[in-house]
Amino acid sequence: TAPNIAAAIEAMSHLEVDTKPASVKTKSRDFFWYSPVLKDRLDGLVADFVVSPRNEAEVIEVLKICYEHDVPVTTRGAGTGNYGQAIPLAGGCVLHLNLMNAVKEIHPGRTIVEPGCLLKDIDAATKEHSGQEIRLFSSTWATATIGGFIAGGSGGVGGVRWGGLRDVGNIIRLRVVTMEAEPRVLEITGEELHRVSHAYGTNGIITEIEIPLAPAYDWVELFLSFKDFTEALTYCYDLVGCDGMLIKLATVFEAPIAKDYFQRVAPYVEADDVVVALMVAPHAMSGFQTFSARYDGADVIYRSDDHDWARHPGHVFEYAWNHTTLRALKVDPSITYLQVGYGTDDPISLVNKMREMFSPEVLQHVEVTRQGGRVGMGGLSLVKFSDEARLDEIVALHEAEGAMIFNPHRYTLEEGGRQSTDERQLEFKREADPKGLLNPGKMIAWDDPDWGYDQMYAYPGLRKAA
Ligand code: FAD
Repeated sequence: TAPNIAAAIEAMSHLEVDTKPASVKTKSRDFFWYSPVLKDRLDGLVADFVVSPRNEAEVIEVLKICYEHDVPVTTRGAGTGNYGQAIPLAGGCVLHLNLMNAVKEIHPGRTIVEPGCLLKDIDAATKEHSGQEIRLFSSTWATATIGGFIAGGSGGVGGVRWGGLRDVGNIIRLRVVTMEAEPRVLEITGEELHRVSHAYGTNGIITEIEIPLAPAYDWVELFLSFKDFTEALTYCYDLVGCDGMLIKLATVFEAPIAKDYFQRVAPYVEADDVVVALMVAPHAMSGFQTFSARYDGADVIYRSDDHDWARHPGHVFEYAWNHTTLRALKVDPSITYLQVGYGTDDPISLVNKMREMFSPEVLQHVEVTRQGGRVGMGGLSLVKFSDEARLDEIVALHEAEGAMIFNPHRYTLEEGGRQSTDERQLEFKREADPKGLLNPGKMIAWDDPDWGYDQMYAYPGLRKAA
């Protein structure tokens, strides 16, 4: 059924509705343009209007009205996702959660927040309340929302200690509103969390989040330089493996990433320097020094609590995770990236193998993580883009060597994952979004259960770009 946009807007006239073309356009975009492939497919797509509910009751109202008038609804936190997750492919309504940003409760070890709360604002509130902080955050901590992180992200800073968002224990409870004639409100815990976490808002709107907290520290942020890439990798791998050390971030940048792309670090490094970024708890600095003294090649060039750098480099985590790509892109617009899983068996050998095969066309940016209790590695490798065929070839060559790719050049859940449908998400969508109005085009299995993945999925409902 064709959406009746005018009737929906009319029915929402008492709510915070935005129909101004310029701001609707801005709120219809995210950071999809990191990918030349997505930029080609998704540039210029816009919603018809944006609504910002103030509370859960208004979310219910919006969903009810949109259901009645067959209007697609794409939820937006802050729109910092990289896969076009927040882009309304079929137009309709952008449900912007910016006004639902309260920290509702703080307890020992946990907090209850609204979805539109910025990650940094949760930290500020929990730190002030009782010296606690969130365990895991996206490097877009300063700008991204917790709802967007849970529905669209996967992990990030803190992953060396706490694993990924989907690991048991990293989300305690989600409150979710369904898209039906009479929307229901569900409290979701346990195995059922997988239905809506990292589902891009295709099967429910998260209106309340309960997540664990850890003691807050004034983390010491460091840059180290090494002359040898494998030594830097081994250093980080061993450091994160030290059972007595509290580390929040361990990142390795192949040369010349720091020299070429990190403006404020560049004066302190040579082109052949491999750079490591770390966050170490203050009480672990003594252990850190003991550990580092065992490595001849480790040279501390910056520590946040004691430095004489003329220009403050900002948080080191804003060089890591997908901030590395951002910094490279600003200098060289032909750079894009891949998300690689090197696993836990022998990640150092696998990273080295990829480096031998592709450097300098692909430069290694490696994040050390904890996976299933073991130290592992993931990469957000920088790729010098030539064309789509070569990019696909690089993906295939990684996979052939056992390096898993989570393709950031695709806008569907399946293609950004392991080319298979998450049955729990699909089943929940059948139940919670029977008309298929939530973030249409992002779940292939909903549109085309027989899709073969032999080519990039092209959502047939894609509204023609403006
Ligand atoms: P949005 O982009 O607004 O939304 C993300 C998805 O969630 C969309 O599909 C949206 O529809 C859905 N959604 C939002 N809110 C809700 C809700 N309440 N209910 C249901 N669905 C909802 N990601 C990481 O995981 N780790 C990183 O370290 C990381 N680093 C990044 C660095 C840079 C420089 C950039 C540009 C991006 C990075 N990202 C990273 C991606 C992104 O910033 C994060 O995932 C971020 O947490 C998303 O939050 P957001 O508020 O911007 O979400």
